[in-house]
Amino acid sequence: MAVTAARGRLLAMDMVHAAASGHIGGSLSAMDMITMLYFHVMRVDPANPRDPDRDRFVLSKGHCTPALYPILAMRGFFPVEELSMFRRIDGNMSGHAEMNLVKGVDMSTGSLGQGISAAVGMALAGKGDGKDYRVYAMLGDGEIEEGQVWEAAMAAAKYHLDNLCAIVDVNGLQIDGATADVMPSEPLDKKFESFNWNVIRVDGHDFNALEAAFAAAAACKDKPTVLLAKTVKGKGVSFMENDYGWHGKAPNDEQYAVAHGELLRGLMGRMEQAGLPVSEQTALAYGVLSDKEGV
Ligand SMILES: [Mg+2]
Repeated sequence: MAVTAARGRLLAMDMVHAAASGHIGGSLSAMDMITMLYFHVMRVDPANPRDPDRDRFVLSKGHCTPALYPILAMRGFFPVEELSMFRRIDGNMSGHAEMNLVKGVDMSTGSLGQGISAAVGMALAGKGDGKDYRVYAMLGDGEIEEGQVWEAAMAAAKYHLDNLCAIVDVNGLQIDGATADVMPSEPLDKKFESFNWNVIRVDGHDFNALEAAFAAAAACKDKPTVLLAKTVKGKGVSFMENDYGWHGKAPNDEQYAVAHGELLRGLMGRMEQAGLPVSEQTALAYGVLSDKEGV
């Protein structure tokens, strides 16, 4: 899992740099969780992306496609090479999540504060249809300031949607600065508890903790669960970490070279820990090969 997420970070950086556009900061904070979902938690079939019995994922923070698309590609929904079409007018790799253009995307998102409502609808439909699929929705901690997030939260509890798991990417930053300054949202646990949700605080970069949290969410009955995942915006790149300036900015060539070097070293370190053969060549080759194992 750690190797796959590290490869995802490299691919995300390549996409945003090549496009000279895109949201890298919040994608790097979300990468470990999305990797965990698609390679370990969710029931999906890349050969049948619209399988009615599949688990669903809604990227409510829909601008963070540089986290979602590399993971979908490495999971086998489409060739990794297609990522090079990110944000190109003649390509399908849209800047915001687009269900009609990108295989594996379950909901078009990008208008903040809306995706969670679609997830509530999917969960409600699953209950009505007697299906056992689960629905996951990822929100930004800046995103929850707007839209219909709390209306959706109220409805999810009313309808006892225990097949719904929301994940808030609590990186503490949003486009204009710290969430605590722009629009304070804490204590998030008490807010969700008061809406009758099951609340789990978790380290969003700790795969073992995430595995346990997702299992606890699936085991919770009669109410929806929210994971409040503490993360680092820009995770993995020293000069991007905890800097809101990298919310929606692409690195220039010099910055890209530094970021790429740091992420490559991170990937190689994780490959070594996983007992894989390590060299710069094998690390970069892994970066473009499909890997359904999710090491
Ligand atoms: Mg944030």
